[in-house]
Amino acid sequence: MPTARVTAAVLRERPGAICQRNGSHAEGLFRERRPIYTATMSLRARHLLGIEHLEPVEITTLLDLSDTFVDLNRRDVKHDTALTGLTQVNMFFEHSTRTQASFEIAGKRLGADVMNMHMQSSSVKKGETLIDTAMTLNAMHPDLLVVRHPSSGAVSLLAQKVNCAVINAGDGRHEHPTQALLDALTIRRTKGRLQRLTVAICGDIAHSRVARSNILLLGKMENRIRLVGPPTLMPAGAAEWGVEVCTNLEDGLKDADVVMMLRLQKERMDGAFIPSEREYYHRFGLDGDKLRHARDDAIVMHPGPMNRGVEIDGTIADDINRSVIQDQVEMGVAVRMAAMKLLADNLHAARAETEEMA
Ligand code: ASP
Ligand code: ASP
Repeated sequence: MPTARVTAAVLRERPGAICQRNGSHAEGLFRERRPIYTATMSLRARHLLGIEHLEPVEITTLLDLSDTFVDLNRRDVKHDTALTGLTQVNMFFEHSTRTQASFEIAGKRLGADVMNMHMQSSSVKKGETLIDTAMTLNAMHPDLLVVRHPSSGAVSLLAQKVNCAVINAGDGRHEHPTQALLDALTIRRTKGRLQRLTVAICGDIAHSRVARSNILLLGKMENRIRLVGPPTLMPAGAAEWGVEVCTNLEDGLKDADVVMMLRLQKERMDGAFIPSEREYYHRFGLDGDKLRHARDDAIVMHPGPMNRGVEIDGTIADDINRSVIQDQVEMGVAVRMAAMKLLADNLHAARAETEEMA
C-alpha cells in the first residue's frame, strides 16, 4: 500500500513559499440533544492549513466529531454553543458560493458571530497587499479566519501574521482540506470504512487542490488511489506519488469502490489542455456505460460546481442510487463545524495559558 510514499511525494509538490431560540420548549430540546464530545478529541495544530499536517488519528477525530454534528444538523433545533462569543471572518479572495455558505452556516450553528468579506471587490483592488489586509483584520481581534485565495501558499503566509486560528478554504492548486475531510466523511458513512478502498480520482488532476488534499488523506488512511485523466491534465511527477496513473477512464474505473469526478478547471488553465469539451466528454466524461466498469456498488462523487455534460452526465449526477453529491454538501457543514470547534478549543486553551502566565 502506497501510504507513506503518497504522503512524501505529494509533499514535495507543495508550493515553494509559499439563537439559540428563545422559549422553554426549544431550550429543553437543545439541552437534551446536545452532541456529546469526548475529552480526547483534539488537534495538535493551531490552524487547519492542509491535510498534509494531519495525523491519521486526527483525521479520525475530526470525522468522529463531524458525525455528531451530522446528527445535530438533522434536528429541528440546530444550535450549539461551541463558538459562542467568538468572531469568525470568512475572507474569500476568489469567488465561492458553496464553500462560503457552508462555513457561514457551520459558524452560525455553533453560535459564532460570522462576517463575510468579499475581497475581490474591496481593498485588494485598491492595491492593498495580503499582509496589509491580514494586519488590519488582526487588529479587530477575530478568532477564526476562513481564507480562500487563488495563490498556493497564500493562506499559510497569512496564518503566520495573525493571532487567530486560520482555516484554509482552498489556496490555488495546493490544498482544500475541508473538502477532503467532507469527502472522507461521505465515503466512511456510505462504505462503512475509510481503508482498503479503491478510489478513482478522475479528470483535471493537474489544476485541482481537491485532488491533492484527497490524495494525501486517502493515502494516509491506506487506500488504493488511481488518478485518471488525459496526460495533459496529469501533474508532472504523478507516477512517482505511489498512486496508479491511468489515461483511459474505462481502465481507471475497473473495480473502483469510489469514483471521484473533478471539475474541468477552465479558469486555472492557461493553454489548450483538451481538444474540445465534446471530445473530453466522449473520452473522460462519466456516463452510465463507463460507470459499468466500476464495482456495482461504487459511489459517484463530485466536489461541485459541476459541468454537466463535460465531466459528468447529468443523469448519473442525479441518480440517487449512485451519486452521493448531495450528501457531500451536507457533510461539508458538519465537517466545518467539527474543524472550527476543535480549533476553538485550542484557542481557548492557549489563551487560558497566557492568562495564567500573566
Ligand atoms: N468553487 C465552488 C463555489 O464556490 C465550490 C467551492 O467553493 O468549493 O461555488
Ligand atoms: N470547489 C472546489 C474548489 O474550490 C472544486 C472546484 O472548484 O472545482 O477547489
